[in-house]
Amino acid sequence: MPSHVELTGIEWFVGGDLPWLHMILGLQACNSTFFCCQCLADRTALHQRPYHHPIAGHKHSRSLSNLRRDFSKYSNTTKTQHEAIKSHNAVNPPLVPFEIKGHVVPPSLHMAIGLTMDLHNEIEKICKERDEMAVKQGLTSLFDMTYQQELKAVEHKKSDDEQKRKDKGHKRARDQYLAAKKQASKRPKVRRHAGGVVVCASW
Ligand SMILES: [Zn+2]
Repeated sequence: MPSHVELTGIEWFVGGDLPWLHMILGLQACNSTFFCCQCLADRTALHQRPYHHPIAGHKHSRSLSNLRRDFSKYSNTTKTQHEAIKSHNAVNPPLVPFEIKGHVVPPSLHMAIGLTMDLHNEIEKICKERDEMAVKQGLTSLFDMTYQQELKAVEHKKSDDEQKRKDKGHKRARDQYLAAKKQASKRPKVRRHAGGVVVCASW
């Protein structure tokens, strides 16, 4: 066991969840155009595949100096949202006095949420593909038979509903026809004679 510890320096890191990191670095919320507290990628970069995140040390990383420069640029403007975007969404002075390049700890909660969501979506996609493939190829096991029966029941219900809809349409058309016929029979019947007009009304 060492008798003493010699302290040669302290390296600071900033960590926390995303809202906290954005607040402490003076950035706008995570839904802003320059959403990342580690780099200067804008939102459109998220839709590019494959997505290469600029790692710490990259020229587009955020650093204490560019946070200060961006805030200084923003504070000398009319402070509109447009100006905030031009200043990489740095709208407040950073509250940390040390270099943040490579020293922002990625928030584990948000990373897990993103990965879990991606995994969940991938599983759903595969399940859907398997279901469609199974239906196309035909199913053989007992479980599959139950599934087939369920599919048939759904198909029957669909055709029943379609028939009911047609019957309802026919009935409505027939009712309209009968009502019109009844109405026509109520109209006064006009008979012309040589000496004038005789109106015969019946109801
Ligand atoms: Zn980034």
